[in-house]
Amino acid sequence: MSVSQLARSIKASPTLKLNETAAKMRERGEPVIHLGGGEPKSKAPLDAVLNCAAQLNTGEVRYAPADGLPALKKAIIRYTEEHYGHAVPPANVVVSSGAKQSIMNLLYAILEPHDEVIFPAPYWVSYPEMVKLAGGVPVVVTPEDGTFQPTVAEIAECVGSATRAVILNSPNNPSGVMYSRDFIAEMVAFCEKRDLWLVMDDLYNRLVFDGQTAPNPYRFAEDRGDASKLVVVQGVSKMYAMTGFRIGWAIANREVCEAMTNIQSHQTSGPVTVSQWAAIGALSGVQTSIETMRLTLENHRNVMVERLQTIPGLRVTKPHGTFYCFPDFSAYGKSSLQLAEFLLDKVRVVVVPGKEFGMEGHLRLSYCGTLKEIMEGLERLKWALDPDAPNEIFIGDRRLVRDWA
Ligand code: GLU
Repeated sequence: MSVSQLARSIKASPTLKLNETAAKMRERGEPVIHLGGGEPKSKAPLDAVLNCAAQLNTGEVRYAPADGLPALKKAIIRYTEEHYGHAVPPANVVVSSGAKQSIMNLLYAILEPHDEVIFPAPYWVSYPEMVKLAGGVPVVVTPEDGTFQPTVAEIAECVGSATRAVILNSPNNPSGVMYSRDFIAEMVAFCEKRDLWLVMDDLYNRLVFDGQTAPNPYRFAEDRGDASKLVVVQGVSKMYAMTGFRIGWAIANREVCEAMTNIQSHQTSGPVTVSQWAAIGALSGVQTSIETMRLTLENHRNVMVERLQTIPGLRVTKPHGTFYCFPDFSAYGKSSLQLAEFLLDKVRVVVVPGKEFGMEGHLRLSYCGTLKEIMEGLERLKWALDPDAPNEIFIGDRRLVRDWA
């Protein structure tokens, strides 16, 4: 073996890998429908593009401070005041190359070898691997009642002397479920009481439906200043549809921000300056694109859920936000990987197996594509799974004949 034990213990990101699979199949002319994607298809806000282009035009693209351009931190501070009602000094903000790097830096900064990090299933695919990379041990809590809503008691049961942090992602990738206000309030109090880090991965908290708003963790937190162990992670990827710019940030206490900055200064020197200009444009410009996208996604969610509910045997939990849905397909008697492979092979629909999110039997279906893709993808899926469906369908001009039982 030429690579380390640590490297061998880390899998490729299945979500990113599936994006590549779908792109390659499309290049070959396959009529693929990608219901596995994890990025909105809207364009980046014009203010992001214009600010970036104007700065780029000067031809002066230099190093920025390792923790982010002061102007971007200022925009993040404004955003945090407006959306969380929380005042943050610049020393408590670290900008990174995507929220992924923010979480990774944080784990490097807080974990001792073998420290445990708890997160509920279904969880975002990268959490276990990130914890392992930072020398920690992932501990998964699986909510018992099938609602995807963990309880504080379930989490408390897993807390031991090695527990260092809890990560919560709400609205959740992949279930789309938003954890209740009471749960967030209790978790903030619980982590304060037990002296645990509480990491709120809030990437989807502006993409919430049915007139709801995401609970604000700061509202429930004691004012502990720089003794606080509450960390909020945010980024431009999902809310502004700016995934390729790779800008995320963490808001944390000063000591941990310093540590994260030191770590980052040796890894990347800081996030790409060009992308930071774009993020400044997005955060400081006209904000209408978020609401436009949110409304589109809500409509897509409704269409997807409505259609999924017509498929026999499926258990569908209506997402409160994000652009994912995580139905339970276990009635079909296949593993999530077998089912995902079957759908790709037979009807060219890409989905992500639930196993990758720590929950067998489920598939993650995204509704961030076009309505046409969603409807056609679900039609194909339904046809593939329904033994009573007509024996043939057409995908584009391709005739498909059922060759399976
Ligand atoms: N977060 C997205 C997803 O879950 C993008 C891919 C990734 O970073 O994992 O599909």
